[in-house]
Amino acid sequence: MSSLFDWFANIRKTEAPVQKQQEREIADGLWTKCNVCSSVAYTKDLQANQLVCPECEYHNRVESSERIKQLIDANTWKPLDEDIRPVDPLGFRDRKEYSVRLQDYQAKTGLTDAVQTGTGLIDGLPLALGVMDFSFMGGSMGSVVGEKLCRLIEHATAEQFPVVIVCSSGGARMQEGLFSLMQMAKISGALQRHQTAKLLYVPILAHPTMGGVTASFAMLGDVIIAEPKATIGFAGRRVIEQTLREKLPDGFQTSEYLLEHGFVDSIVPRTSLKKTLAQLISLHQPFYALMSPLKSQNGHYSKSANSQQRERNAL
Ligand SMILES: [Zn+2]
Repeated sequence: MSSLFDWFANIRKTEAPVQKQQEREIADGLWTKCNVCSSVAYTKDLQANQLVCPECEYHNRVESSERIKQLIDANTWKPLDEDIRPVDPLGFRDRKEYSVRLQDYQAKTGLTDAVQTGTGLIDGLPLALGVMDFSFMGGSMGSVVGEKLCRLIEHATAEQFPVVIVCSSGGARMQEGLFSLMQMAKISGALQRHQTAKLLYVPILAHPTMGGVTASFAMLGDVIIAEPKATIGFAGRRVIEQTLREKLPDGFQTSEYLLEHGFVDSIVPRTSLKKTLAQLISLHQPFYALMSPLKSQNGHYSKSANSQQRERNAL
């Protein structure tokens, strides 16, 4: 086995400079240089612009807590299932024990696993939101990610909330083997029940959305939104090229390519994402009222006392 690990280590060594170049690191300093256009922006301005380069509109990676702040109205976020923690069911070990790796990432990110879930308001409308975090083991989907997303969707179904999941993931978490692959079916099942209840689900595909995440909940939305120039796919480009022994077209597995080929419905820049989501949800809103209705005198639909109470409890 050691020779296989050496081989991977060598591959990593040769890839390292390229990855480093692509990786966006927000410097602690006052100024941040864009990786794509090399323009220098005041870090505070960049943060105010939701980490989108003001010059070239390159979308830097956003951590989950920051993304929640960007999408949810201030002081309305209520996290769900924060105490669910990952275990190491297979006693898996590569260069490091999986249990140790988990502890390292937990210490580094302050998260328990690669997703945060909860409810909140978006422009005053209730929403169940899940945000994957690429900085925790590449946003990989293990049992905890699956369970938390499932519970979020089930909670949303019970409360008649729309669901938004921000996807950013390398795919299923190999360290949990079959347990991670099962999550695809589990989440898809929960979404099916959410859909049967005629509720809205919108996945946001951020860079990168790959593997089992693409093959399940990222592609099951009523409206599928992608961020500009995100990489979205199942297997990686190189794997496909080596398997097919063919060169793939330029721009393959980008948001723009997928939009052109009908896999995503819209590419929305991050700076207009909240507004677009709130519009979509409000368009769908009269429909919720029809299901648990009290039509007010001015012709607008309002929620029943029960559902208002449920919302107050939930938020
Ligand atoms: Zn730039």
